[in-house]
Amino acid sequence: MEQRLNYAPCGFLSITHEGVIAEINQTLLNWIGFEQTDLLHRHLEILLSTPNKLIFHSYFYPTINLEQHVEELFIHLKHKDGMSIPFLMNARLYTEDMVERIDCILVKMKKRIDYEQELRSAKKLLEAAYQEKDQALANLKQIHVEIEQQQAKLLEMNATLVELSETDKLTGLKNRRFFQEKLEQQFNSFYETAKPFSLCILDIDHFKKVNDTFGHQAGDAVLVQLAQLLTQRAGNEDIVARYGGEEFVIILPETEIVAAKELGEQIRQTVALDNWPTGQVTISIGMATVTLEDTGTTLIKNADDALYASKENGRNQVTHFCDMK
Ligand code: GH3
Ligand code: MG
Ligand code: MG
Repeated sequence: MEQRLNYAPCGFLSITHEGVIAEINQTLLNWIGFEQTDLLHRHLEILLSTPNKLIFHSYFYPTINLEQHVEELFIHLKHKDGMSIPFLMNARLYTEDMVERIDCILVKMKKRIDYEQELRSAKKLLEAAYQEKDQALANLKQIHVEIEQQQAKLLEMNATLVELSETDKLTGLKNRRFFQEKLEQQFNSFYETAKPFSLCILDIDHFKKVNDTFGHQAGDAVLVQLAQLLTQRAGNEDIVARYGGEEFVIILPETEIVAAKELGEQIRQTVALDNWPTGQVTISIGMATVTLEDTGTTLIKNADDALYASKENGRNQVTHFCDMK
């Protein structure tokens, strides 16, 4: 064999049609650890494992017979020490002087397989990293949902707290704090629109006697019943609140003196005629309608003075501040 082919940077192997090794170059011998005398005129199958023999019979020979060449066949040859070495093989049928030979070129595949394996493990790592990222993203979404739920709960709790902070526990009416805020707002809109509004303060007559005679619980029941009655009689826009003890207030938006007095009288009568578990209950009412000189303090004082006048004049009556001397 020519020196260049003998030491070419690829394995060279020539076999007869029956698979007997006719020529083999030194490069391939070095790779598989044999001497030329070990293999020359021996059958190629001594270098093949059973699966590789099968490949030869089922693919290599039929393809050579059909197409006279085989390309990129992946096979393993056995090293003398038993190791299996992967090769990529090209082969073609060559005929000279009526003699057929199958010339084969083999290139070692180990580096490429290692490289592919590296690529595969890098791909696996990448997939795992992606999966971790997806998982982290899903966790983040879950946390986000939980935060939103907590925020909604907080808002709900806040709303409940606000509601509680402006509600009277016993009667369920708005409390004095809420009333003061609304009165301030009412003044602001009065300064803007000049539409007058009125204030009604009412107080249960001789309530102490009710408590003394029927007990504190019965007194509470009267307060609750009165609160319901006031809510029913007041208009939608009116603001009913418990001012303290057995005193209540109603802000009457866009209500002039006459209309205010009428409503006050209606409420007084309704209370006096209602059925009470403690016998007749009456209330005294003081009213005031806002003027440009008024502030929250003066308006409350005027209504309170009118209430005092109702008490002084015998209770169970309505007095408007404007009718006082
Ligand atoms: P007047 O006609 O002058 O208003 O007489 P009055 O007895 O109603 O007035 P007074 O201020 O002397 O008494 C008010 C009573 O209201 C005393 C207090 O025990 C009672 N009271 C205040 N808050 C409550 C409450 O929440 N429940 C009950 N049951 N009684 C209350
Ligand atoms: Mg009273
Ligand atoms: Mg009182």
